[in-house]
Amino acid sequence: MPPAKTRKPPKDDSHAPIPSATVSRMVTYLRILTKLEGEGVNRTSSEVLAEQARVSAFQVRKDLAYFGRFGVRGMGYTVLTLRRELEYILGMTENNPWNVGLVGLGRLGQAIADFPGIVGGYFHLVALFDHDERKVGQTFGDLRVSAMDELPVVAERTQMNIGIICVPAEAAQGVADQLVGPAVKVKGILNFAPTTLHVPDNVIVEPVDFLAGMKRLAFYILNPNLKDTKEEKK
Ligand code: NAD
Repeated sequence: MPPAKTRKPPKDDSHAPIPSATVSRMVTYLRILTKLEGEGVNRTSSEVLAEQARVSAFQVRKDLAYFGRFGVRGMGYTVLTLRRELEYILGMTENNPWNVGLVGLGRLGQAIADFPGIVGGYFHLVALFDHDERKVGQTFGDLRVSAMDELPVVAERTQMNIGIICVPAEAAQGVADQLVGPAVKVKGILNFAPTTLHVPDNVIVEPVDFLAGMKRLAFYILNPNLKDTKEEKK
């Protein structure tokens, strides 16, 4: 795991929670800055970031202000500097990547294992696991599927610190227990299984639920006036 010193604390050090929507937008700003940099753009502004992120410039400045002062008033931001600052804040550094282990090599797990975006960059897929003997020993990309009882040894060897759960809902809690147990100790789980996981307080779970997104979409299509766009209009 990247050492603690690569994490930038919120500016006032008060440990006040930061809205999860702000963190989500920071990820979006990082993506936009990386794209601008690739296009050879040197300087940008909260207006440009706002336009591309579909929020207000006020919202961009408010989000960044949680983490400190960036740019020069009236001059905007240097793209490279702000991109590096955001990477630092979000814990994304290519020379100190997160090591990811994926459990469950079914339809979804195989698709993720084959996804080029998880090879290199900020995240390294370092290990694959399944309890099905027919899958153990198979390879996806460069990685061999390990059995579940190999989890502690492989996790130690690969310095695994993030787990992705792609097993059926009824198996997910058992897998989570193994991932956070004393022998493995991952610090975060990306959970694709449609169930709520119970983990120790020092472990972060990020659920991913495509069907929940579809249900929210259907609700807002039927009730467009109920969508909260307050933050975006400020
Ligand atoms: P699948 O049945 O094709 O694959 C499941 C895999 O998990 C199999 O390889 C199986 O051997 C393995 N497995 C089962 N129990 C295990 C255990 N205890 N330990 C280790 N491995 C175990 O399923 P799928 O279609 O790939 O879906 C996987 C999960 O992802 C399901 O929970 C599904 O509901 C969920 N899903 C979520 C989304 C989303 O957007 N969040 C989308 C699709 C599927």
